[in-house]
Amino acid sequence: MSGSKLETSKIREDFPFLNRLIKNKPIIYFDNAATTQKPRQVIHTISNYYENYCANIHRGVHTLSQESSELYEEARRKVARFINADEREIVFVRNTTEAINLVSRSLKGEGKILTTVMEHHSNLLPWGRGRKVEYVDIDSGGRIDIDDLRRKMDGSTLLVAVGHVSNVLGLINPISAVIEETKKRGALCLIDGAQSVPHMKLDVKELNCDFLVFSGHKMLGPSGIGVLYVKEDLYERMEPFLLGGSTIKEVHIDGYISEDPPLCYEAGTPNIEGAIGLGAAIDYLEDIQMENVFAHDKALMELALERMGRIKNLEIYGSKDGEERLSVVSFNVNGMGCHAVAKVLSLRENIMIRSGFHCAQPLHDKLGIGPSARVSFYIYNTPEEIEIMTDLLGKLAQFI
Ligand code: PMP
Repeated sequence: MSGSKLETSKIREDFPFLNRLIKNKPIIYFDNAATTQKPRQVIHTISNYYENYCANIHRGVHTLSQESSELYEEARRKVARFINADEREIVFVRNTTEAINLVSRSLKGEGKILTTVMEHHSNLLPWGRGRKVEYVDIDSGGRIDIDDLRRKMDGSTLLVAVGHVSNVLGLINPISAVIEETKKRGALCLIDGAQSVPHMKLDVKELNCDFLVFSGHKMLGPSGIGVLYVKEDLYERMEPFLLGGSTIKEVHIDGYISEDPPLCYEAGTPNIEGAIGLGAAIDYLEDIQMENVFAHDKALMELALERMGRIKNLEIYGSKDGEERLSVVSFNVNGMGCHAVAKVLSLRENIMIRSGFHCAQPLHDKLGIGPSARVSFYIYNTPEEIEIMTDLLGKLAQFI
């Protein structure tokens, strides 16, 4: 496959799910935008933690607690290095959804929030609580309309919250331009990196964003661990909304002294094994290099676009320009419901794809369509798998 330097056959050996046969056939997993599969290295790191290091963190002087705390903090350093942040700027949360809710609840100050009509529900609903929200439109291709952003930004804009890559259209938004606009107007910017961080090298210093959020489970890590990056000086404009164990230095019956960030944002016992597992996932991705991951996923998407584009009766949503897209293609087969398409692919060839609104119903409304089918690719997927899928889709579309 042109452009890909990943040794996919070697990578595939690391993923136990590929050994499973259903009705004597292997699995073709194309639901990576929902969650990715896990390599042996991540699975072993987590079971090793349970077998050898399990203890609560930051609250014991015994050896196991100290080792466990060190593994957790080492994971934080790995995340920080991965996006070129300082470790103090990394808050562990459960997922992207929790990270956005945390910012919406913790950020002090008045002002309106700008988000876009293409967002995942997790970057829409949390903002509507107690603040005015306005929605920036998309252009004819499906990316954020920068002119509309400029029109809607004014002196009262507190924060702009934008998805980097749409989980429906796979389109890469011009976030550098978005961040530049917000800075010009003195507003803050939150980037939802749930669909970009797993596929490309991001550098928060270069981007100059204020918040970046993403989920471990979409990048080879376990579920229940996510990341909130906070540009360090912004902690002054925030206040933890969850209090309790781990968030304080001292508590007396008439008051308390808060822990420093990021710990004051990690109330209660965190997902220790999740953080350590995410650290192992990052090791894996760094080992194969994010530049190669990007090229591989993009090449697969371009192949899928090209082959699906040739199928009559199949409609692909959003710009077909491969330069603007990354690893996700949403579509419908005319005359056949998307759930039926997904079911047939699963039953016939063990091809796992997503069908529905993908938690982005306003975007489907905007496009004037009902639910859609979605394929999304990752490092263990191959051109041959795409050929199997597009051959079957071609047959299905022919019989409608
Ligand atoms: N934002 C985007 C762009 C997503 O794709 C997703 C997951 N589909 C989320 C937010 C929410 O992620 P999580 O369910 O891990 O919180």
